[in-house]
Amino acid sequence: MDRKPSLSPSKISTYLACAAKYKWSYADLRGRWYIRSKSYFSFGTSLHRVLERFHDSGDMGVQTIDEAAAALDESWIEAGYGSAQEMQEALGEGKRIVATYIQHEVIRAKNAKTIFVEKLFRLDMGEFDLIGRIDRVDEYENGTLEIVDYKTRRAGVTDEEVRDDIAMSCYQLLLREAFPGRKIRAVIHAIQTNSRGTAELTDREAKEFKEELRTLGIEILNRDYEHMAPIYRDLCPACDFLPLCRSHEDWSEPEETMDHDP
Ligand code: SF4
Repeated sequence: MDRKPSLSPSKISTYLACAAKYKWSYADLRGRWYIRSKSYFSFGTSLHRVLERFHDSGDMGVQTIDEAAAALDESWIEAGYGSAQEMQEALGEGKRIVATYIQHEVIRAKNAKTIFVEKLFRLDMGEFDLIGRIDRVDEYENGTLEIVDYKTRRAGVTDEEVRDDIAMSCYQLLLREAFPGRKIRAVIHAIQTNSRGTAELTDREAKEFKEELRTLGIEILNRDYEHMAPIYRDLCPACDFLPLCRSHEDWSEPEETMDHDP
């Protein structure tokens, strides 16, 4: 029996950014040969691992700034950096960021407890499952559940950015389903500066978003990727898949970009 397809916020965001990018990332295996390691992915994943350990009540190994620095050394991913010096600078910056984060968390008034870290949620949407891995969920004394999503490179974040973020709305849908009737809040935490943006879907907004997502998901899964012509856009010069798109017979791009080797 065929398994039901699943869509995650990153698949959906990729499709919305560029349908051809979705094709090469998820629907056409030729794309995998063109994906290059990115230092910002390595950096973000390395930091996420340390924060996951810090908030995991079953892991007592990362309680202090020194332990967090050691944990970052252990979980550090080297892929994607241009030189050893660039990587060492990033590691130093990562240690500074986790130190500031932990200082901040330790002195923050604790009226909430962390109930999930890096937890995968799933919601049956009919033709597909919506899935999402949430960095952290805190439960407050009044019963409110707070979704926390870490951003490691962003200097700041506004409430409006959280409200417009499709992943944060997906996470709210997923948690609403798992905890019906509970008040759910979504937070993006820009850990470089310890700034936070917050948003909360109303019942009506959640219902409308779910319907729009269902329609979009069906479009994503049923699109004819084989016969789709890629269209040049601002993202293309930095995209790993540019050589593949350039080989399409209908491809056209501004002349000044032709020398760029992504
Ligand atoms: S090169 Fe451009 S059109 Fe092709 S996948 Fe990348 S962003 Fe999309």
